[in-house]
Amino acid sequence: MDISVVIPLYNEEESLPELSAWIERVMNANGFTYEILFIDDGSTDRSLSVIHELAKGNPAIHAVSFSRNYGKSPALNTGFRRAKGDVVITMDADLQDSPDEIPELYRMIKEDGYDLVSGWKKKRYDPLSKTIPTKLFNATARKVSGIKNLHDFNCGLKAYRNVVVKHIEVYGDMHRYIPYLAKNAGYRNIGEKVVHHQARKYGHTKFGLDRFINGYLDLGTLWFQSKFGVKPMHIFGLLGSLMFLIGLLAVLVVLILKIVSMNSDTYHFYVTKSVYFYLSLASMIMGLQFFLSGFIGELITRNSPERNNYLIAEEF
Ligand code: UDP
Ligand code: MG
Repeated sequence: MDISVVIPLYNEEESLPELSAWIERVMNANGFTYEILFIDDGSTDRSLSVIHELAKGNPAIHAVSFSRNYGKSPALNTGFRRAKGDVVITMDADLQDSPDEIPELYRMIKEDGYDLVSGWKKKRYDPLSKTIPTKLFNATARKVSGIKNLHDFNCGLKAYRNVVVKHIEVYGDMHRYIPYLAKNAGYRNIGEKVVHHQARKYGHTKFGLDRFINGYLDLGTLWFQSKFGVKPMHIFGLLGSLMFLIGLLAVLVVLILKIVSMNSDTYHFYVTKSVYFYLSLASMIMGLQFFLSGFIGELITRNSPERNNYLIAEEF
């Protein structure tokens, strides 16, 4: 099979018939053998029954439906696990990505030898509230991942050599930097293609500012782990033990001072003059401790494929 088109969707009933007809047209015009994998991410509208209808008219249409809304990353991951085509194309369901890009993306993987080609929505039709954080995000992602030639990490339209999707696990908010995951897995030949972007025709965007914050946390911990592995846990453990020993020593010193020089100036100095210094020092260290334990929590939970425990309600 030439191409698997993986389409994650959440409440997109209006666009689906138009989208699948368009893909079908492009595939037939180019003589591609293909499958369309719709991943219904727990839609609460009629999306799933619309897909059922579409599948009756085209045996290339398949679907997996989640028991509830788990997010775009688990949806893509499910598509990746099932995709059979030599080239895997992902696209959004809202008609913002154009199926007309498929033949060129396919050619770039097959003939130019790219492992992954990412779309670049050079001219975007999104509100400013969205394009500005996106610019910021892309600058960070470029820096962190070291993939300097990409302008638009999060573009939903991407093409992959099949083996690449089999070797990456997308969870949490990782769909924003799949090129980085691919690079970490050893697939470094990553290209970009300027793609046409359209305004959303039906429905509304499913992503708000909270997802950008989550996106940054995922990127930060991913970077940390790919660079240092689980080393920080050991370093922090060592640091904690050291601090504990120093604290213990300080307490002992104060106790001994109390015993040997109950009413002297030295003891007076310790309990009055410098008590504020130690209090602030203690709160600073406590803050650091809380921060580090939170950070370790993020490292463990964010980079755990356990996050991909989604439930599939139906597939066909
Ligand atoms: N999507 C999804 N699960 C979600 C949110 C979004 O599968 O929890 C799908 C959505 O239906 C669409 C794609 O991901 O096909 C991109 O979402 P959207 O168009 O809302 O994002 P934007 O284009 O605004 O970045
Ligand atoms: Mg969209």
